[in-house]
Amino acid sequence: MIVIGGGLAGLSAGVALAEAGWRVRLFEQRPFLGGRATSYVLPDGEHVDNCQHVTLGCCTNLEDFYKRVGSAGKIKFFDRLLFQDPQGKIGRMQAGVLPAPFHMTGSFASFAPLSLADKRSIARALLDILRGRGHTADLDTPGGISMLEWLRRRRQTPGAIERFWRVVLVSALDEELGRTDARFGVDVFWKGFLSNRGGYRMGVPAVPLAELYEGCKTAMESRGGEVNLRTPIRAIHLAKGAIESVEFDAGRAESADAYVFALPHLVMAELASDEMKRAEPSLAQLENIGVAPITGVHLWFDRAVMHEPFVTLLDTTTQWIFNKSALYENSNGIRKEKGQYLQLVISASYDLLAKPRQEIIDLCLKEVLQALPGARNAKLVKATVIKEASATFSPQPGVDRWRPRQETHIAGMYLAGDWTHTGWPATMEGAVRSGYLAAEAVLRQAGTPKTILRPDLPPDGFVAWFT
Ligand SMILES: Cc1cc2nc3c(=O)[nH]c(=O)nc-3n(C[C@H](O)[C@H](O)[C@H](O)COP(=O)(O)OP(=O)(O)OC[C@H]3O[C@@H](n4cnc5c(N)ncnc54)[C@H](O)[C@@H]3O)c2cc1C
Repeated sequence: MIVIGGGLAGLSAGVALAEAGWRVRLFEQRPFLGGRATSYVLPDGEHVDNCQHVTLGCCTNLEDFYKRVGSAGKIKFFDRLLFQDPQGKIGRMQAGVLPAPFHMTGSFASFAPLSLADKRSIARALLDILRGRGHTADLDTPGGISMLEWLRRRRQTPGAIERFWRVVLVSALDEELGRTDARFGVDVFWKGFLSNRGGYRMGVPAVPLAELYEGCKTAMESRGGEVNLRTPIRAIHLAKGAIESVEFDAGRAESADAYVFALPHLVMAELASDEMKRAEPSLAQLENIGVAPITGVHLWFDRAVMHEPFVTLLDTTTQWIFNKSALYENSNGIRKEKGQYLQLVISASYDLLAKPRQEIIDLCLKEVLQALPGARNAKLVKATVIKEASATFSPQPGVDRWRPRQETHIAGMYLAGDWTHTGWPATMEGAVRSGYLAAEAVLRQAGTPKTILRPDLPPDGFVAWFT
């Protein structure tokens, strides 16, 4: 079995297939595993994530994957999400004593950055999602409708759109509301906030991301497999409608009984020959799937400037501030320092792509100083900006029609990646789901079917009674 690509999709497929008894050989072009959800060491020795990554309680397959590779204990879960506007008004989202779907009622009622009119309009829209059990009739419009259109149809106030829907969904889906298929937006609220008390709980890695994948190598190698880093695939060869081999540098060719291609979709599109596109027409459509950017800003201060582990800012360019020093505290090998390391995240950061890095640092620093009074007397020791222009696929209305299934019409060829048909947006959960689905397809074809995909969190509380 050959897996190409050592991101979460390739790793989850590789680990699941190794556990099912296959000898897995994984090939990754970079010197480390984790793909987009990884970390590396800067020349000055600082460990930085490619970008802060978070998971939610409703990400059941990612949780399963972390358990399989021994990393579940490296994720810290938080029950309280904190929101702050430039006037210093604070909103909290935290489950209270009531059962789902009313578990957030208390924190929603006291959410200071929203007006009563905002809250009424939001409650109406949430009720609509609840009545449809995560679905509303207009989501079935051919070609999809945008989230903004969905909100307009439900007469949401400007405050509700800007300070609630936009804040949650741009972070979760990495796209502006006008360019997001409403299906994804409704799903976030159904799975994350309405159907189950624990769906919204936020999981944040307590170690640099690359450390989450140490168990993957062992899982594959202990079963006779291998993990090859710095080994980019250069070509795919077909013979009689089946994959014959894959080619690496210097013409080295490798063959296997089955191949999982877990590459970014645009790399896959480039590698697929015309013959492959004729045999598997979905490969000819991949370029229809657009991409969206995320920018991470890393700031190191000479002293502690923030106590919370993270906070969401409203009405600013900066969307999230993560207190990396607090999140890493007491974790493996991470030293406790006098200063503090913060990581800021800006999703759908189209406006920042062309801006010089120093301008981005200045802009974000100004917002940090406004939000965190403790930072005003602190010295910024160093700062860096990581722009990911193709961070995720863009969840545009109708995008699902371009997302191929994991099983293809080419014998021996399976696809994985957050961009394949999973029903999920571009997330770590989506990537792991795709890997598990690809592994299931391989096992089905081999005549040894097995269920690997984990189910969604079951509805609980009152929601369980009427679903
Ligand atoms: C800045 C940023 C922030 C994000 N934040 C979050 C978040 O908070 N929560 C969340 O759930 N998701 C987040 N995501 C999305 C998440 O990272 C992805 O959905 C997920 O990691 C995708 O995994 P993948 O395996 O499908 O793809 P990738 O991770 O892209 O894996 C593809 C792999 O293929 C390798 N490859 C490419 N070309 C070749 C070649 N020729 N030969 C061999 N190997 C090759 C790549 O090096 C890579 O390792 C974020 C993404 C980014 C970029």
